[in-house]
Amino acid sequence: YTAKRHRTGVALYDEARDGQGRHRLELAEQLRAAFGRGELVLHYQPKLHLGGDAVAGVEALVRWQHPQRGLLYPDAFIDVAESSGLMGELTVAVLDLALAQTRAWADDGHPLEVAVNVSPSNLVDERFPDEVAARLRVHGLPASALVLEVTESLLMEDRERAVAVLRRLRDAGVGIAIDDYGTGYSSLAYLAELPVTELKLDRAFVGTMVESPRNQAIVTSTLQLSHALGLRLVAEGAEDQATVDALADLGCDQVQGYHLSRPLPPADLIGWLRARAGRTAPLPA
Ligand code: C2E
Ligand code: MG
Ligand code: MG
Ligand code: MG
Repeated sequence: YTAKRHRTGVALYDEARDGQGRHRLELAEQLRAAFGRGELVLHYQPKLHLGGDAVAGVEALVRWQHPQRGLLYPDAFIDVAESSGLMGELTVAVLDLALAQTRAWADDGHPLEVAVNVSPSNLVDERFPDEVAARLRVHGLPASALVLEVTESLLMEDRERAVAVLRRLRDAGVGIAIDDYGTGYSSLAYLAELPVTELKLDRAFVGTMVESPRNQAIVTSTLQLSHALGLRLVAEGAEDQATVDALADLGCDQVQGYHLSRPLPPADLIGWLRARAGRTAPLPA
């Protein structure tokens, strides 16, 4: 009886896992086709300068307009893209869309810096810096218009190669940000030798800093560290005015979060920018 139950358990487990495997395979096939069909779209979330209140730039965040399943968020397909070898293609597609949009905004009187997230496979690809340079040229943008966001864990995987790729991008003038800073495990010694220009402090610390003296201490010390290393600090995940005010008081450089704006489709972002034009403090509620 026990053995039978055990077998049933195993069968059920395998079936579930098989189903998931098929699902992932199907999703990978669909994603491969999605590039050519224009199903990848970007939403843009603004970043503001603290102290001055001007728009500093935008972060491009990928979504997949899936023909059957609707708008999918990165959580639903980034892992699949990575494990099926599609990440290089996805990043170039995102880069191309983001730079084309940035060019259009600049032509419309809104010169913005754009940030694009990159993944581990990009940073071990020696052709990546040339690809980035080529995309910038095609869209007629200076390298200083682009920031690439990398995560700490990504830098641990094949460190030497990743640092070499980052160095070439940085030498070309592209900005480099460490995303979700504080949640990884890179040492401060490593950080000091990385060719980075910006730290993006993870929202785990920022979101609760007003109530949590511990998290506020983390924000304060990360700010000191950033400035001592000549880096700018961007706080992610500010969801209310009190947090934005606290960050401004501490001297944080830039802020991003739902309180300022959710990530928006380009047509909505242009409306947001126009509504803000000429506007000074206070921030929109
Ligand atoms: P991320 O780069 O850290 O992006 C910030 C994420 O936090 C976004 O989620 C954004 O919508 C969300 N967020 C922004 N402000 C707030 C806030 O105030 N509160 C809360 N709770 N969340 C906030 P999203 O768009 O779902 O993206 C999730 C992650 O997917 C990104 O995290 C990034 O790691 C990855 N990702 C997005 N687009 C791309 C891409 O084009 N390429 C790659 N490789 N990864 C991407
Ligand atoms: Mg990011
Ligand atoms: Mg982040
Ligand atoms: Mg994050």
